[in-house]
Amino acid sequence: MVPQASIDITRRHFLTTGALTVAAASLAPGSLLAQKDNPTGGLVGGAFKEAATEKVTVQTLRRNISVLLGAGGNIAVLTGPDGKLLIDAEIVTARPNVSKALASINGDPIKQLINTHWHFDHTGGNEWVHAAGASILAHENTRKHLSKPTRVEGNWQYTFPTAPAGAIPSTVFTDDHSLHFNNTTLMLKHYLPAHTDSDISVHFPEADILHTGDTFWNRDYPFIDYATGGSIDGQIRAAEANITKVTSKTIVIPGHGQVGNKADLVLFRDVLVEIRGKVAALKKQGKPLPEVIAAKPGARYDAEWGKLFQNPADFVALVYQGV
Ligand SMILES: [Zn+2]
Ligand SMILES: [Zn+2]
Repeated sequence: MVPQASIDITRRHFLTTGALTVAAASLAPGSLLAQKDNPTGGLVGGAFKEAATEKVTVQTLRRNISVLLGAGGNIAVLTGPDGKLLIDAEIVTARPNVSKALASINGDPIKQLINTHWHFDHTGGNEWVHAAGASILAHENTRKHLSKPTRVEGNWQYTFPTAPAGAIPSTVFTDDHSLHFNNTTLMLKHYLPAHTDSDISVHFPEADILHTGDTFWNRDYPFIDYATGGSIDGQIRAAEANITKVTSKTIVIPGHGQVGNKADLVLFRDVLVEIRGKVAALKKQGKPLPEVIAAKPGARYDAEWGKLFQNPADFVALVYQGV
């Protein structure tokens, strides 16, 4: 049994560590965890507040593609004569800093938005981006979840209301989809249920860049949304799929964390598999969740992987739920 007080102390410890790391690295994405103990807002409320002030930085990748790194999901930006295409739209409160970052690339309008999945830290900007003139494209389940109130459990504990009409994707697909924009090919592919049931990857074959959405978190424990079809086994299956989609030269944009590569995808898969194995074995022995958390099945990774979005206890709880 882990007393509640010791969990709270651990959280504060990670909050402190995370804040220092962010300050030191300056490029690191912000902490969704930072405000999670806030009794008025929880993790989601804290994320709204944090995204309002978190700086959004621009990193140029290859050809006409760059990435915006901020408090919410990473945004890929494709520029060219057709205007800007964005993959994901951050948390709604990040709008001023996202707008500033986009303007620093060039003054072209946003014409197309693609959502990697339905979560608020990837679709929060849908309404304003649509109002600015963009069409929205996503998997059909993204439209489904945005079109009605949707409750998310885990450490979110939040019911998202129906999204405004302008935020709902106008074009959706089922399995895969391709488009040409700014003389560039984009290949969109739906994953089997993984982090949610709405996850897609976006591959730019000419530049060899893959945006994985939240099927890949670079050196951060992932959130897994069981309420809309996610599971630890699905998240591992998607991690395996991502490894087969890339070569050692591919640039990989994660949903959260710094831009990575194939080795980072392999590490992510290995960490998930290792922790899943340990948690499953303990659960099979009949251990209740608090004892499994106390056993620290991710001890080797907790200091680095548990400091931002999911603390080690929250991540173990997500794994425990699915094994
Ligand atoms: Zn996310
Ligand atoms: Zn997500």
